[in-house]
Amino acid sequence: MAQLLTGTFKAMSSKDQAMPSDPISNLKALIEKYTIISFIPDIKGYRQIQGPRTGTCIFRGCTEPIAWEDARGGNFLCQGHYLVMNQWIDEARKGLITGDLSAIFDMGLPPK
Ligand SMILES: [Zn+2]
Repeated sequence: MAQLLTGTFKAMSSKDQAMPSDPISNLKALIEKYTIISFIPDIKGYRQIQGPRTGTCIFRGCTEPIAWEDARGGNFLCQGHYLVMNQWIDEARKGLITGDLSAIFDMGLPPK
């Protein structure tokens, strides 16, 4: 019985595990897989692009016209992928139980 439990624990903590169990790791894995960035974008700081910009959506292979930029004017997203990213982050937040980890979403945001 004890050996069985140990084996299960090792399998769950393996880095080869396709989907990590906690929402933040899950979100980061999604972002790393589908975009050219490897961090959680500050989606609340995004603004709609005004005027001409040169760039492409951060989603790999996406050729849609860019519609959103982050607070620094980079990491462009098209309209559809902006909604996708919002949904991912929203779902990850709903998966959080305590307030400790949710602070990661508020880092770098100016106080309102
Ligand atoms: Zn896109």
